[in-house]
Amino acid sequence: MVHIRKNVTIIVVASALLLATGAMFVIQQQKQALARHTSPDGQSSSSPTRCNCVIFRADDIQDYWKQEPQVALLDIFISKSVPLSVGLVMNHYGSDRLIVDKVREGGPLFEYDIHGWDHVDYTTLSAQQQEESISQAQAKIESVMGKDAKVFFAPYNNFDTNTLIAMKLGGLKIISASKADTSPYAPANDTLGILHMPQSINYGYANSTSERHAWRTVAEMKSVVEADIEVRGWAVVTIHPQDFAKYDDGEENGGKMLNVADEQRVDTFKTFIDQLRAEGKTLTTFEGAVRIMDGDDVHPDLH
Ligand SMILES: [Zn+2]
Repeated sequence: MVHIRKNVTIIVVASALLLATGAMFVIQQQKQALARHTSPDGQSSSSPTRCNCVIFRADDIQDYWKQEPQVALLDIFISKSVPLSVGLVMNHYGSDRLIVDKVREGGPLFEYDIHGWDHVDYTTLSAQQQEESISQAQAKIESVMGKDAKVFFAPYNNFDTNTLIAMKLGGLKIISASKADTSPYAPANDTLGILHMPQSINYGYANSTSERHAWRTVAEMKSVVEADIEVRGWAVVTIHPQDFAKYDDGEENGGKMLNVADEQRVDTFKTFIDQLRAEGKTLTTFEGAVRIMDGDDVHPDLH
């Protein structure tokens, strides 16, 4: 009896020790993961400059709309063998052979991302509508391009918590909007596990006073890209087909976008790419940047 009791005691003590060691190991692992992923300012605490990445985000790619400027945009990246994150408006994509074939021509350089089912402000949709919208977009991108998307470019750079929940349900892992996004940025996750990678700057924009399309200079874009890389390790440059189009300069109809590519704007953007490359920046996609930042298996589903 004494022996048995002794053995039982030994077993109980040993189990308790094992449990305690196990629990401590789990806690330690969690602490390490937290240290690696977030610091109080929400930035990566490991080595923010490790990625040294620039991501090009092309919004508004769609069928039968200003094809010449769209093709000119996509050709920049194909001709220079530069990766591009292509934002497709899925309810208006898949039937135009010219556009679809051009996107396919990018091969592995191009990442297929969702820029909405329709090009609407998702915050105007109910939770259920957002969920349906993203699920429809995923189904279509899979049927047209042969794989589902991991990245969502919020139309009008606007989203809410329901968008993030809909993304999670739809298998989307990364959101790109604007710097109005107050979540911690990648490589940190938000509480739902979504990575936030907002744009740093856009090449073209609508001038608020003249209401005409305007362009940033290469120097402007470079300074913002460098500042963001310094802080987060990566930068996102947003471009639109509208940035590579010619416009009607006439008095009457002035400022109207034409279905004509503007080679000068194309060349300026190529110069920008050349300079980033010469400086040793890594040109990549959203998923590519996350892979580089992870190093290994932090987000295995993005590999
Ligand atoms: Zn858009």
